[in-house]
Amino acid sequence: MRKIFTSICLLLSLTLFGQFPVYTVETVPSPKDFAKGTASPTEVRNGYVSNPDGLLNQQGVEFINAQLDTLEITTGVQMAVVAVYSIGDVPASSFAVDLFNYWGIGDAEKNTGLLLLWVPSQRYVQITTGTGMEKYLTDADCGYILDEFLIPHFKDSCYSAGIIKAIWAVESYLDDPETRVELLTSFEKKTEPEWVWWLCWYITAMMIALIWLCYRSFVSVKRNEGESNDKAVERVQSLIGWMTFFTVLFPALYFLRKWAKGKETAIRKMPFNCENCGHEMQLLNESEEDQYLNAIQQAEEKVGSYDHDVWHCPQCQATKIYSYRLNTDYDRCAACGAVTMKLTSDTVLERATRYSSGRGCKLYTCANCGHITKSIYIIPKIVESSGSSGSGGSRSGGGSSSWGGGHSSGGGAGRSY
Ligand SMILES: [Zn+2]
Ligand SMILES: [Zn+2]
Repeated sequence: MRKIFTSICLLLSLTLFGQFPVYTVETVPSPKDFAKGTASPTEVRNGYVSNPDGLLNQQGVEFINAQLDTLEITTGVQMAVVAVYSIGDVPASSFAVDLFNYWGIGDAEKNTGLLLLWVPSQRYVQITTGTGMEKYLTDADCGYILDEFLIPHFKDSCYSAGIIKAIWAVESYLDDPETRVELLTSFEKKTEPEWVWWLCWYITAMMIALIWLCYRSFVSVKRNEGESNDKAVERVQSLIGWMTFFTVLFPALYFLRKWAKGKETAIRKMPFNCENCGHEMQLLNESEEDQYLNAIQQAEEKVGSYDHDVWHCPQCQATKIYSYRLNTDYDRCAACGAVTMKLTSDTVLERATRYSSGRGCKLYTCANCGHITKSIYIIPKIVESSGSSGSGGSRSGGGSSSWGGGHSSGGGAGRSY
């Protein structure tokens, strides 16, 4: 008999419990989702109450919604009410924090969100506050509100009434004029976390750049076995180019760059052996080298587009010329072949207007042979910079169709009843 009774009880409780799903943070229907048309149509039209198990009656839900809508309009505080029969064995207090953050209740910047979670299977009710809300509504305040205003009604099974009384109590805590002004005006933007974030990025990027450049310098700033001086210098110069780029961002690289520049000069003057006889070659000075340079090379040295190093073997009289680019303003002349061609004039032939493009003419003159090249180019139409269109900065006001992105670090209080 006893056994039968137990089984009946078990069966009864199973059917009873079986009516309601066990919710997880992800499966609690968001009343804001309903506004987007994704939640179940039995859900009441609103934005604040999640009542999927129908634990609160229709009138109660509508009234709570109206109260919470007013609360958000008048104080900017977004409060959600969630009534779910079961969340399994998960403690309601931690479930509330997880749900709070999953939905992102309250303004993302001010974090003035609130969540009232009621879990009848645990006979537990919890108020969770957003991190910005703790200042106005302490954990003790939340406990007091539950004890004084909500629990007495819950004990009489008047759940909607208990929740409404709790909401009114919350409102009374925010009823101070100074508090209202503070809640409704945007807080000063907390720029520090972003600033720290950028600094971390900067330091990380610079450390990587520094390590890479130091490593490359160690590997690369030298003349390799069998490598010619000009090829080694070219390699070092490209590395110096990177150093110059990063020096702007990270001034300490100036010293590495200076060291590399010194090495570059040393590599250029590093003696090597004659290809013919193996005797060490000698670098000729500016006056000695001219007899070994042709007219084009001499012209290039004269304008400074190139520096040609002449190496001479004292034993077999062989010569080796290495050329180094200096002034990059010069181009190669189509007539004489020397890199001695430079822009000498740039005139506007037709001005560009807002309606038509213009034309200009560039003249390049060769310093060696006097050859002139003319280049006509198009000047683009003048585009009027459009005035910045005022972006309507909308403050998240009442009746918003989404949660604000707020965060809670677990403030609030819970009570069993
Ligand atoms: Zn030789
Ligand atoms: Zn020329």
